[in-house]
Amino acid sequence: MATGSINVSVENIFPLIKKFLYSDHEIFLRELISNATDATTKLKHLTTIGEAKVEYGNPIIEVKIDKDAKTLTIKDQGIGMTGEEVEKYINQVAFSGAEEFLEKYKDSAKDAGIIGHFGLGFYSAFMVAEKVEILTKSYKEDSKAVRWVCDGSPEYTLEETDKSDRGTEIILHIADDSTEFLEEFRIRELLTKYNKFNQIPIKFGTKTETLPLPEGAAEDAKPETIEVDNIINNTNPAWTKSPSELKDEDYNNFYRELYPMQFEDPLFHIHLNVDYPFNLTGVLFFPKLGNNLNIEKDKIQLYQNQVFVTDEVKGIVPDFLMLLRGVIDSPDIPLNVSRSYLQADGAVKKISSYITKKVADKMVSLINDNREDYEKKWNDIKIVIEYGMISEDKFYEKSDKFALYPTTDGTYYLWNDLIEKIKPTQTDKDGKTVILYANNADEQHSYIESAKEKGYEVLLLDSPIVPHLIQKLEASKENVSFARVDADHINNLIKKDEPKISKLNDSDKETLKKQIEESINDQKFTVQLEDLDSTDAPFTLTQPEFFRRMKDM
Ligand code: ADP
Ligand code: MG
Repeated sequence: MATGSINVSVENIFPLIKKFLYSDHEIFLRELISNATDATTKLKHLTTIGEAKVEYGNPIIEVKIDKDAKTLTIKDQGIGMTGEEVEKYINQVAFSGAEEFLEKYKDSAKDAGIIGHFGLGFYSAFMVAEKVEILTKSYKEDSKAVRWVCDGSPEYTLEETDKSDRGTEIILHIADDSTEFLEEFRIRELLTKYNKFNQIPIKFGTKTETLPLPEGAAEDAKPETIEVDNIINNTNPAWTKSPSELKDEDYNNFYRELYPMQFEDPLFHIHLNVDYPFNLTGVLFFPKLGNNLNIEKDKIQLYQNQVFVTDEVKGIVPDFLMLLRGVIDSPDIPLNVSRSYLQADGAVKKISSYITKKVADKMVSLINDNREDYEKKWNDIKIVIEYGMISEDKFYEKSDKFALYPTTDGTYYLWNDLIEKIKPTQTDKDGKTVILYANNADEQHSYIESAKEKGYEVLLLDSPIVPHLIQKLEASKENVSFARVDADHINNLIKKDEPKISKLNDSDKETLKKQIEESINDQKFTVQLEDLDSTDAPFTLTQPEFFRRMKDM
């Protein structure tokens, strides 16, 4: 028997990385900016703990296009690298300096927000560049700047160079098939997509700013303009702050920062903030349902340490919350892996059930804090809540505290209050409490009126998923059944009032009933004559409940 180690050569692995590591070539920019951000964060950390004896200052990351030279440059003022470090971190594919850093500074840096993970990100540069140059100078005293050049083959050159300032410059010589990344609009688009909330300011070009006129300036004085750095990101988005720092207005502004085309304020926000058993922050919004709801485009966005990962959150966020908007940020969400991996990931599964619980808790506090406001918004949020009740047991279990059951008259009941109210009057011969509901107030108007005449409460349950919700409630609540207001079941209820004396005697009624039945000529309907004194409908037609429901499902 022989044992040995498989020798993976870079020659084999390079084309693989190029082709398969990322399905989307554009993410190279996210990766390089993440590295620049990490390099800056590391420097901040090292200066804080006194290990780096340099001024941290206000470092920025700069992205530059040089169309003539066909280069795209990402420049940072972070820790930089010595020659040995370049050999160690860059030349060793799949060795992550980020992971090493976290391992070394385990206790102090665990919440520093380091993005890197797998030691593969840097090589994504070769998806779009035919040659990559690194110019770098370490923060360490007496370190010499170095220049590393590689054309995507396993050979590279490393030499000393002139660079006086600390930090790293990654120069991509863009390949002919990737010239789109030399276009300003394309780079701006990518920066907006992935780095809108990056931790470190990112400069992309300059912009003109108009200075205010000095006091007492002449009326025809021209205001002075200056060129300033064009910083594309907000380094301090709402979800990184504490809820106590934020007012409703701040949340609304953040909502529009996320979805600039949304003009309507969201109904509610939910600020997520947890550090055990995993790290997760975020803000979710209940949007106002309406014409401008763009579910396709404006979705929940997933971030890792303020870097955009994806807005394909199916499997991470429970289905019923897909109608919400907002941001979820977790360092435990792997940046560069496939969707199927994401969904199978243990941390991701826990995130999903945590979010469900958190949303349920928030609904309880919203209804308790301002019942009136909550009732007003119920119509807009009910679809999410009802869908959640059907699909997530954890959510359903708590829903008695926040799910409302509105009547056609606009009274909103919580479950227990509803049952307490109707039990004495709406119990059938089998002892079941029967909840009457309408799903179309206009079409079922006369049935609703006649049920109300009899002293019954009629709920208005008009979401498309109501048949499923009813099924769920009937299966889990004891001694309760639902009957649509036009179903024949209503005739089995024990009436509250003694029946009034009808003007017709029994045989007249029989005759009349027969006549009506003959003229309708449909076995599915039951005819019932009403007390002619008290209702504007002389008789009602009802159908078996099961037949109704079959049609609705
Ligand atoms: P990861 O970020 O997952 O660690 P990468 O392949 O993206 O892996 O980068 C490899 C390593 O190279 C980093 O961990 C870091 O040590 C080093 N590095 C990359 N870019 C820079 C930079 N701009 N400044 C300093 N070090 C860098
Ligand atoms: Mg990286």
